[in-house]
Amino acid sequence: MLAAPNLMAQLAGDRPKQTPGVKVLNPHGRVPVSLIIDDSTCLVNLAHFCIPQFAEVFPDRYMQPWKTLPREIPDAFVRKFGEWCHEHGVKGKYSVIPYPACVGWLDRELPGWSKKELQESIKLVQTLLTPDWDFHPEMVTHTWIINTKTGRPYDERTDRFMENWRWTDGRSADEIADYLTYALRILHNIGIPCEGITTPGGFGNRALPALSQASLQSCRDIFKAEIPHYFRHLYTDERSVAPRVEYASGLDGSDPQCVVSIIGCTGDWFGGWDGLEAGSVDQFITEDLKSGRMVEVIKRGEPAVMVCHWPGIYFNGQEVGFNIFKEIVARLEAAYKGKLIWMKLSEIARYWAAKELTRIETVDGKIQLHAPFACPAFTLQVLDANRKVTHNGTPLQLHEASGELICFDLPKGLTEIS
Ligand SMILES: [Zn+2]
Repeated sequence: MLAAPNLMAQLAGDRPKQTPGVKVLNPHGRVPVSLIIDDSTCLVNLAHFCIPQFAEVFPDRYMQPWKTLPREIPDAFVRKFGEWCHEHGVKGKYSVIPYPACVGWLDRELPGWSKKELQESIKLVQTLLTPDWDFHPEMVTHTWIINTKTGRPYDERTDRFMENWRWTDGRSADEIADYLTYALRILHNIGIPCEGITTPGGFGNRALPALSQASLQSCRDIFKAEIPHYFRHLYTDERSVAPRVEYASGLDGSDPQCVVSIIGCTGDWFGGWDGLEAGSVDQFITEDLKSGRMVEVIKRGEPAVMVCHWPGIYFNGQEVGFNIFKEIVARLEAAYKGKLIWMKLSEIARYWAAKELTRIETVDGKIQLHAPFACPAFTLQVLDANRKVTHNGTPLQLHEASGELICFDLPKGLTEIS
């Protein structure tokens, strides 16, 4: 048999020339940190409702006492969590599953809750969380695949028709984009903006190139997202967790495109996806601030993106995951004051797109930046940072210029450093 082509590899796409004398650093020279929250939605405690559906397909694997788990994660907790995070400058991604475990539709009815409760819950997400969090669908139900023509699950009750498992196997980018589009449209209907998607469980695992392209297409289609991104991978070993800028094209034209894969760097060591497994702070950063996964990744200078699940943060009212998170934030602050920068996933995606896709040339002693995407706090290492930065002849304000570090908001188009 011939070796199969590498069907698993997503393509990077185009890359511009970058002169070797100039290096793009982390924003403000600080290491990005972020928190990914999976399995959240309005009101519905996904764990309570998804476990019996998973158990229908895998009876031996999902034996959790789901009936004893609360059916709701209350808005009072969303408010408490969101306010605490805002006070501490925390940013990240918050999933909003559009038809959670087939319980109800966020853009129609959520049986078990009044229309008013649903509307207030959506409003809370829009007002409280918008400044600090990106919103993602985590596909439509996070359990059964639904037929996008009818809105109903299929009759076949196997792992081939569950979002977490085999449905995406062998499917094309267009088929997967149709499914993502369906999920995104529900959030669009209720005024929840999205620039990215999160994959539920193993969704897309055996169709990585198609998943990447489908994320690019669907977020551009429904939300006109300039730089779509997605969360599929997390690594807790030596592999790089730097974001991957994929399918870049048209960098010199009027419609540059790419999609960014944001990679998590921790497991859920908060409270588990079901809210039954307590984790520990030390896995992230130890009390002496010297070891733990966050310390490892921050030392490398790569974005340190933690991953948790909303039922584990709430932990059935005991808030075990939330308490772990609070202590992590306190330890990070103690260890790295002024050296970290909390960012949403969309902000990390934009930074990496600009970092990798800006053409950087030296012409007549000037450095020319040809940027397909604008980017706040673009930070460069250049030989002499005491320079003038201009865009279309107008000087740009510098955030910082000291030693070899120069930081400014990069506009789209041509910027010169002279
Ligand atoms: Zn999930």
